[in-house]
Amino acid sequence: MKLAGARVLVTGGGSGIGRFLVERLDAESAEVCMLERDTARCAEINDLPGGRIKAYPCDVTDPAAVDAALQTVFDAGFDPDVLINNAGIIHSEPLVNMLSRGERVHSRETWRRVMSTDLDSVFFVTSRVVDHMLAKRCKGLVISISSISANGNPGQSAYSAAKAGVNALTLTWAKELGALGLRFAAIAPGFIDTPSTRAALSEAAVTRLQQQIPLRRLGDLQSVYLAVRHVIENDYLTGTVLEVDGGLVM
Ligand code: NAP
Repeated sequence: MKLAGARVLVTGGGSGIGRFLVERLDAESAEVCMLERDTARCAEINDLPGGRIKAYPCDVTDPAAVDAALQTVFDAGFDPDVLINNAGIIHSEPLVNMLSRGERVHSRETWRRVMSTDLDSVFFVTSRVVDHMLAKRCKGLVISISSISANGNPGQSAYSAAKAGVNALTLTWAKELGALGLRFAAIAPGFIDTPSTRAALSEAAVTRLQQQIPLRRLGDLQSVYLAVRHVIENDYLTGTVLEVDGGLVM
């Protein structure tokens, strides 16, 4: 698929990786639209000079909100060629915290919140967008931002399970819908230098981590963008999980 002119819908485009993707895709002449929970960020994006990027408020964990926001997007005449499932939260918590004086086991509430944000949302948004692509006879593409934690990262039960689920959905949909011309891929970053990564890790933890990464540094946002562009442009690529991790193996 040609990137210039492609209509790309990004979830969670308000900050971090999503924000970078939205801006780079727009700079390379894609038509970009995004769903974002934070209404102030949506207003800020809609007010950018040129007014090309359209942002719609939506909590992607709420199926009714997803249906309503997507209907608004479609009614505005935006028929996506590419969906990028990017919205997500990173969460670390041990299965059992043996040092805790209170509840020792992993909170069920945080388990549900992570599964809902990182996995359920991918199912809700993709099913509606793919239905629309099929109705429009569009040979579309769905890229989901996974993580190398899908391979099993100690201290990240919910996050690892959710991202492994994203990989499984990607492979399933590639097999189920490939004959109709639709492509599905996941991009699994390692540790990317974003505000959310910096907020989650102390300076000492970043230094330790860098020593374990074969390329000895965190990834930059451009490395994720280049993977996205590659998947969009290579029409023979489907049912794959592309790891962008500086060689870090989990
Ligand atoms: P981020 O800066 O926190 O950005 C996540 C974006 O998703 C934010 O704009 C956030 O909006 C939005 N979002 C969260 N929950 C949402 C919801 N329920 N509905 C709508 N939007 C929602 O995080 P990031 O580091 O860029 O991560 C983006 C994706 O990459 C995630 O799927 C993450 O798992 C994945 N990833 C990141 C890394 C990394 O190193 N950073 C590594 C591997 C994978 P609010 O700000 O309003 O919450």
